[in-house]
Amino acid sequence: MFQKILIANRGEIACRIIRTARRLGVRTVAVYSDADARALHVEMADEAIRIGPPQAAESYLDAERIIAAAKITGAEAIHPGYGFLSENPDFVDAVVAANLTFIGPSSASIRAMGLKDAAKRLMEKAGVPVVPGYHGEAQEIVLLASKAREIGYPVLIKARAGGGGKGMRRVDDPEEFAEALSGARREAKAAFGDERVLVEKYVDKPRHIEVQVFGDNFGNVVHLFERDCSAQRRHQKVIEEAPAPGMTPEMRAAMTQAAVTAAQAIAYSGAGTIEFIVDASDGLRPDRFWFMEMNTRLQVEHPVTEMVTGIDLVEWQLRVAAGERLPLTQDEITLDGHAFEARLYAEDAARGFLPSIGTLHHLEFPRANDALRVETGVREGDAISPFYDPMIAKLVTHGPDRPAALTALGRALAGTEVAGSTVNTAFLAALAADADFAAGDVDTGLIGRKQAALTALPPPSDGIVAAAALAATGIAERPISADPWSGLAGYAHFHATPQRTHLRLGEQEIVAQISVQNGGARIALETAAGGTLPVHPAAARLACWPGHITVFDGAAAYNFAVPDPLASADEAGAGADALRAPMPGLVKLVRAARGETVAKGQPLLILEAMKMEHAITASRDGVIDEIAAEGAQVSDGTVLVRFVEEKEA
Ligand code: ADP
Ligand code: ADP
Ligand code: MG
Repeated sequence: MFQKILIANRGEIACRIIRTARRLGVRTVAVYSDADARALHVEMADEAIRIGPPQAAESYLDAERIIAAAKITGAEAIHPGYGFLSENPDFVDAVVAANLTFIGPSSASIRAMGLKDAAKRLMEKAGVPVVPGYHGEAQEIVLLASKAREIGYPVLIKARAGGGGKGMRRVDDPEEFAEALSGARREAKAAFGDERVLVEKYVDKPRHIEVQVFGDNFGNVVHLFERDCSAQRRHQKVIEEAPAPGMTPEMRAAMTQAAVTAAQAIAYSGAGTIEFIVDASDGLRPDRFWFMEMNTRLQVEHPVTEMVTGIDLVEWQLRVAAGERLPLTQDEITLDGHAFEARLYAEDAARGFLPSIGTLHHLEFPRANDALRVETGVREGDAISPFYDPMIAKLVTHGPDRPAALTALGRALAGTEVAGSTVNTAFLAALAADADFAAGDVDTGLIGRKQAALTALPPPSDGIVAAAALAATGIAERPISADPWSGLAGYAHFHATPQRTHLRLGEQEIVAQISVQNGGARIALETAAGGTLPVHPAAARLACWPGHITVFDGAAAYNFAVPDPLASADEAGAGADALRAPMPGLVKLVRAARGETVAKGQPLLILEAMKMEHAITASRDGVIDEIAAEGAQVSDGTVLVRFVEEKEA
């Protein structure tokens, strides 16, 4: 076994690899960009080394710097995690050339599976069923269109270099082919620098079922059963599970056999996944699944397989890379119970899944146990930056059967509290509670068909609003769990006459009247009609963070903004002298400097937020006293520009 390995990744996967390495007595080296200098993976590793600025291209994707870091720290092997350099064969070659071990397959295996068209041709030869389609080199539009006709609509155009669902277009009508093709090409060119595509049959009632495989350097290949990843949004996995609901012994035998054949065809070593697309319009049938692609790395959703097999896949990766044989033979690998994984993302499901960066002012997960794993790479107070994937955590549950594991997932989601950044917890919980999902009747279109219902956040109950209003005044009517407000009770001004408290929930303005009598608070909400409605505060879980109170109700989180009367008076005075970030973001371009005289309306900097650019312009003529630095990450309300005070200027 290795003495020391370097982990060329960040976030939850880096932390997860460190845990196994530590258990095996292997020392770990973390790498980090400037955005991650204080990240959890850096804290957890035995050593850490800076590899560059926040941009991935200059840090986590910089092969040379990563290899140099391994050399400097004396690591013998590099674990790539997933994403980043994990499926880059040139990186593998460079690692090997530097006399280091790559914890993963050979560059030849990665190359064989790297392009979807070539991989499909290879799989056809090996006798693995492949989706009917055109996987050739020629790319003339007339040819592709005629192939599409031959295949029969609907068809799917896919970037051959594709990944992450990019460069993919479903086409239902020949009339739309040309436009869809140019769209797919454009996206593929931008994302992968390769605009070539393949065209295949769009499978009816598609289910995504993949098989975990593992090989060693002695020619052994085993499978670790299947995972179902049909719950997808825009071809991206949302909740995964193992085993696949409705799986039959015949179907499993056929799929796992095909997967092992595929891995053997490329002399595969290490952890890999063979993804199949299944036509589930008539149940699971052994003649209705086809090879889609192979992911030559550890998959994000590998923990569900670990939960049902009891095998630590990272341990196996390390053992195989260190030259050991596979620890178990095929018949020693067994299935136990059922597991789910939900991917918790910093995104606003109710607003079209916009990524939501910001600081995790409050972060609490339910306590992990045998039935629950919480895989995360962040702590309370950490920021979700715009530089990397906004996944916050994976909640992985296990149960003796599917209903038990699903109940555990629902409970885990309801016990998760995140404030400061909008997270998809309620969406995941709605999906977990969906009748079709609960029945195991899932295809890749399920989320799309039900998106409106799954993403609609029901309005908070009056009791929730009352709890927020009460917290906003600092009057603790009763001890509310271990919330920070109970300590503030002493600050409260007790009035017999009602005190008005303003709150904002999204666009909605809320005014509550609170009065204290006989040691208890009475709360009334002012109605649009001008009356008041007495309400009782719910015994809710709360978190307060700058300018906000978040109330948790099940898996839902209601973020109430609390305008601070003192701060706003302040701001009114200083308003003209400071420009604040309207939302969390990244300062992309700074066009003015300290001491510079600028004119009202002049663009001063560009803030990149929510995947869009916002120009911040001068609010008045004046001299700049302070301006944010290029590349700075700012939170909502941060001062971006401060003018020299009028009287001084
Ligand atoms: P990526 O590299 O982006 O993961 P895949 O080829 O694995 O691309 O496809 C991603 C997803 O697109 C699949 O999980 C599935 O939901 C859908 N998909 C792919 N091929 C087909 C097909 N032929 N018919 C229907 N859906 C498909
Ligand atoms: P999977 O089928 O396992 O979801 P994908 O090919 O879609 O695989 O991507 C693997 C995972 O790696 C994704 O879930 C994505 O969130 C993550 N990922 C991809 N690129 C990056 C990156 N640059 N930084 C962090 N995570 C990434
Ligand atoms: Mg895929």
